[in-house]
Parts: sequence; C-alpha cells; structure tokens
Amino acid sequence: MPQAQKEYGYTPIKITVIFTAFVTLYIGLTVTYFDIKKQELLQVMPASKLIGSVPSEQQEQETDPAKPFQPSSAQAQISSDETIESLEVSEKVKKSKDLIPWNLLLVNQDNHIADNFNPKLTTLYNGLKVDSRAIGQLKALLKDAHNAGYPVKVCSAYRSAGKQRELYEDKISRLMEQGFDRSQAENEAAKEVAPPKTSEHSLGLAVDIVSIKYQTLDEEQGDRPEMKWVKEHCADYGFILRYPPNKSNITHVIYEPWHFRYVGINAAREIMERGITLEEYLQENFEF
Ligand SMILES: [Zn+2]
Repeated sequence: MPQAQKEYGYTPIKITVIFTAFVTLYIGLTVTYFDIKKQELLQVMPASKLIGSVPSEQQEQETDPAKPFQPSSAQAQISSDETIESLEVSEKVKKSKDLIPWNLLLVNQDNHIADNFNPKLTTLYNGLKVDSRAIGQLKALLKDAHNAGYPVKVCSAYRSAGKQRELYEDKISRLMEQGFDRSQAENEAAKEVAPPKTSEHSLGLAVDIVSIKYQTLDEEQGDRPEMKWVKEHCADYGFILRYPPNKSNITHVIYEPWHFRYVGINAAREIMERGITLEEYLQENFEF
C-alpha cells in the first residue's frame, strides 16, 4: 500500500524533525543538570570558595562605601547572604542602552537629555507640569500622604532645558559677583544647579516634594516626619529618592531629600529596597 508506506516512511524531513527533537531534549537535560548542580553547590559551599576568582579589591569595596563607584563591581560583589542573587545578576543578559524605556531614562552629568526631548505634560497645580504618564501616581502619593497625616506639596516639577539654562546662568552670575572667575563659577554652580541638559526635571519625571510645614530645600527636609513618610512609601507609587545620602560619588549630586523621580513601581521597589541608585540599577540591566 503506497499510501501507508508514505505515511510511516522516514522521509528526510521526518529524520530532520526527529534529530532536532533529540538534540533539543539533550540540551534541555544538560542545562537542567548543571542548574541543579549549581544550586547544590551554592547550598553547601561557603561563599569564600565561590568568590575565588573575584579580586580581593572588589570584596573590600563592599565594606567600604567611601570608595568610588565601579560599575563592574555591581556584578562581582558577593557576600554569603547575597550569593545566589549576585550570581543571578551576573548571569542577567544586559539589554542595549537604546532599549531603556521612557520611565527609566537616565539624565545626569554624563547622559544628556536630547535637544528635541518634548514630553507630553499635564498640569499638576500652580502651573507645575509633570509627564502625563506619571501624574496619576504622583497625585495618589500626595493624597495618601495627606490622608495619613503627613501633608506635603510639590514645589518644583518639569523644567525645560531653556529654563534650566536660565537657572544655571543666574547661579553663575551670582557667584561671579562674589569674585569667582567664569570657570570656577561654572564648577561651583554645577554643585547646586544642574547644567542645561543634565537635569532630570527636563524629563518631566522628577519632582521636588517638601513638607507643608517646612519648605526649605536643605538636608533638614529629610528629617521631617512628612518626608520620612514619603520616602518610606514612594516606591509603592513608582517613585524613588533619586539622590540619597552617601551616593554622591555615583550620582554626582548632593543629598537631596526633596527630589523624587518616577521610574515605575517595579524598578522603584527594587531600587528603594536595595538602597541603590538609578545609575546602579541601569548598570545591572543595560549595556553602558
Ligand atoms: Zn529636583
């Protein structure tokens, strides 16, 4: 019966399909085997054995927060508590920097905002504008803080690159009146006012939040109970404290207890729980 022969015969296509299936199964089993072996190894081996190949300098860095930021160390740092997590981080496939989504865009002294950056904005109040995709969460944060007995307000939000330039130039002029020359004044000004194209406020995703009862932008702001509430809960609304204390070596911005940045809830929770910066979070996930 030619029909039956055709049905059950090993045609080249069928042989290829069967061969592919065997290869796939073999690879699958091998991967699973090594995965199980790795897990066993992690459970029984002390962390010191696992980090044999990690240079001692990187181990030291973990205990010395004063050392300058080295991106590669984020993958290599391994402590007994974090062994599994750190290994997973190092195995993470980093995506191209071009794939960073809108909510994670990085703007700092090395990563300038594009000239034609033009976010869709919605007015919050008093003419303050915020990216339309983040304003709902911001409003919820402000409302819930108020309802919890910690009233706060936004005192600064979106600033165009032009407005940022104005603020920066104003600061420079004032410093030059005090006797600084232009380049000294530029350096000094940059410590307090972000130079044009380097301010997150131009993204429309950054806001300065202060206690209604205390509206000065200084470190004391962070000690206010209202701001402690905001810091504790901001991640649930997708915001992070963008310039935490002791991270200036990474952010190149002084501690700003009032400056919050929208990054989305998942990233915000990870960043705030781990006490890392947006720079560190992005370094772990994207090629820089
Ligand atoms: Zn700010």
